[in-house]
Amino acid sequence: MACDFCGSLKPAWSYTTKSFLFELGPGTIIRCRGNWRACDACKPDIDAGNFEPIIDRLEAGRKEQGQEVSASARANVKSYMEEFALHRQGEAVKHEPKPPAERPFEVAGNELIN
Ligand SMILES: [Zn+2]
Repeated sequence: MACDFCGSLKPAWSYTTKSFLFELGPGTIIRCRGNWRACDACKPDIDAGNFEPIIDRLEAGRKEQGQEVSASARANVKSYMEEFALHRQGEAVKHEPKPPAERPFEVAGNELIN
């Protein structure tokens, strides 16, 4: 699970948006809906509508993986985030602590069952 904005692996917040369509590239339209995860670093920038620092983090992360982010990709990501902001519903919600992983057994009664 990663931050849907910068790609960090520690998302701590969720934003809800209305469903919307976004043209990712020529002929590629995606439907965005539901929950967007955000990390602690991105949240204040998202709330301020300040997307450049987020895109800088995204680009830095991509570069670590040996990927280049072109100027047009940056512009595209920015308009994607602006669409997010337009369709956002309410404030971010802090993720609850995760529930414990499902136990590998269940109690079937008071006696041990073989
Ligand atoms: Zn982030």
